[in-house]
Amino acid sequence: MKKDRYFSKTYRQARSRFRRAARRAGARTSSLHWGLRGPENEKLSVDIAILGAKRARRVLLHCSGIHGVEGFAGSAVQLDLLRHPPRIPADGALVIVHCLNPYGMAYLRRANENNVDLNRNFVERDGERKGAHDGYHRIHPLLNPASPPRYDFFTLRLLARIVRHGFRYLRQAGAEGQYSYPRGLFFGGHRLEDGPLLFERWIRKNLRKARRVVAIDVHTGIGEIGRDWLILERHHGEAFHRLLEKHYNGRLDTLDPENTIAYKVRGGLELAIPRILKKAYVDFVTEEFGTGSGTGLLRALRDENRLYHHVPDASPGHPVKRALLERFAPSTALWRKRVLKDGRRLIRLASRYLFE
Ligand SMILES: [Zn+2]
Repeated sequence: MKKDRYFSKTYRQARSRFRRAARRAGARTSSLHWGLRGPENEKLSVDIAILGAKRARRVLLHCSGIHGVEGFAGSAVQLDLLRHPPRIPADGALVIVHCLNPYGMAYLRRANENNVDLNRNFVERDGERKGAHDGYHRIHPLLNPASPPRYDFFTLRLLARIVRHGFRYLRQAGAEGQYSYPRGLFFGGHRLEDGPLLFERWIRKNLRKARRVVAIDVHTGIGEIGRDWLILERHHGEAFHRLLEKHYNGRLDTLDPENTIAYKVRGGLELAIPRILKKAYVDFVTEEFGTGSGTGLLRALRDENRLYHHVPDASPGHPVKRALLERFAPSTALWRKRVLKDGRRLIRLASRYLFE
């Protein structure tokens, strides 16, 4: 397979490539599905490939597509990984989770089939699933207009808000997750969604012997084009942190809204894995491949969300959907090349840290 061909055009193609590559690599596989179908009536599932020990104590967990449309980069890295897996010790396993939000990837959305941002859905207690940051209430009418997409000076109006309230405040308000507006952006859901529920069960059952876990969750979005930057969960993995610092000069952050270009989120996957695998020491790293300007990304997300709610029959071929795809998975050769290179590098560092 030529390298560029690791990047699929559709979810359907990505899923079938992943399953084929897993078979070729001799991996054991699982497929989680809950009755959803894609735009071509294809089955939507979370597909998992496992190489190595059955009751592994050391697990390298690599996840893609929790944000749907962002899944094309992670999927490509995973195809490459199945072709060139690291050396796995007798008590170790490599667990590759393909596309945690298949609906979003198939229909080109960031949220899932219920408009839930799955990386805000892993809230520990249902009682916490309410409310929103004060700033979100303020910008809700601007962010989520109840009408189909049209040109309405969004960027200018957003800039005016930034001048008024400050960039950090608004970024935190928008991105930390909200539980007040089910049709809005960054909605975390009022219950644990079906996909995350099945995934939690799978992890609990299949990784219960794990004592050390390094989890990599691949995203795309904010940041320099094609370069990855990492967000580490703050209270874990000091040794891993030090190792990464050597290689990610200035492109490594901890979850802390004051000092970083990252922001704090509620209900993120990084909180779920240590909660499920209580006996394991978990190093969780979010790897984000930059695609350019933040306001452009937000505009594309806003347009797609308006389309989704107010033009329900719009297909994945709709220009607004294509624009979102290009924002979160640029089609340029340079971007793709960098994604594969940096994606491979992080896996190499993680497997060296965990397995050697
Ligand atoms: Zn993301």
